[in-house]
Amino acid sequence: MKREIFVGNVGIGGNHPVSIQSMTNTDAEDIAGTLAQINRLKAAGCDIVRVAVPQRSALPAFKRIVARSPLPVIADIHFDARLALGAIENGAHGVRINPGNIGGNEKLKAVIRLAGAKKVPIRIGVNAGSLEKKYKRSGLTLAAAMVGSLLDKVKFFEDQGFLDLKLSLKSHDVRETIAANRLADRRCGYPLHVGVTEAGSYFAGSIRSAIGIGSLLIDGIGNTIRVSLTADPVREIRVARQILAAAGLARNGIDVVSCPTCARTSVDLIPLVAEFERKVNRLRFPGRLRVALMGCEVNGPGEAADADIGLAFSRERAFVFRKGKVVARTGAGEAIPKLLEMIRELAAERNHE
Ligand code: SF4
Repeated sequence: MKREIFVGNVGIGGNHPVSIQSMTNTDAEDIAGTLAQINRLKAAGCDIVRVAVPQRSALPAFKRIVARSPLPVIADIHFDARLALGAIENGAHGVRINPGNIGGNEKLKAVIRLAGAKKVPIRIGVNAGSLEKKYKRSGLTLAAAMVGSLLDKVKFFEDQGFLDLKLSLKSHDVRETIAANRLADRRCGYPLHVGVTEAGSYFAGSIRSAIGIGSLLIDGIGNTIRVSLTADPVREIRVARQILAAAGLARNGIDVVSCPTCARTSVDLIPLVAEFERKVNRLRFPGRLRVALMGCEVNGPGEAADADIGLAFSRERAFVFRKGKVVARTGAGEAIPKLLEMIRELAAERNHE
């Protein structure tokens, strides 16, 4: 089990569930715009948000964002220790720094001292692209070089008596990311922030992230995750939630499963599933629920027998089934509203249990 740290009220490591992070991409000095995005991230299921503090003029805005944010805020800092110190003074719940570019060991020590005094955890990370020369030419595998570089940094923090660390090892290469995190998991007791960096567009980046993050989560590795996409950050949260669900780690929410369609399909299932997914994404379901949408009545209920509830369509009708047994019939046009109504009833039942 990894050491437990707290980013605001969100526990990471220990027995805490895997948390989901994202990062705002609004102007750092746009308080209203940044808070609006944080609120959207929270509504989508984000647990922790990271906000870049690129220059000193952003610190007053950062202070007001932290004060009004519904999520714990991590300050993302590069190149200037004064920004890290300012962010901590202004209420950051966590700081992400690159110890190698903060301005030297004395400045790094000042950041560590203040973070220690304010009980603010620090994430330190190694990216494959920014390895020190010593490790680039070490002859080690890339994963071993990344972990070696990270452990040097960890030792520096430990020497200052600072243990509230979160570690990350990222590469745009999925296999390197997995190898480095597996090795770090064996060699360190600090919680791991897992992600594939520069993963790409919504489509390609989601697949790379699902393989990279998902492979690690299935092995029990990773305490907090970030899906990095060149897309609206809210999409990162949707993908992260799907990855957690597929890895069997989601606590709440609805899994929509649907058939691939074939010559037997008796309804235009593709837009119907997309629309249904949009609707259920907005529902807060207590616990997990698997909902199946199947294109025919012949095979649908049987193929989706493990679904908690589902629909199988015929040309004019739809059959509502629970655990493979038909429990109601309805017109095809009324099927989705009927299913949503039954899901809401199930949610209400669970809330009363
Ligand atoms: S459930 Fe029916 S329509 Fe869907 S793939 Fe299977 S046989 Fe085809």
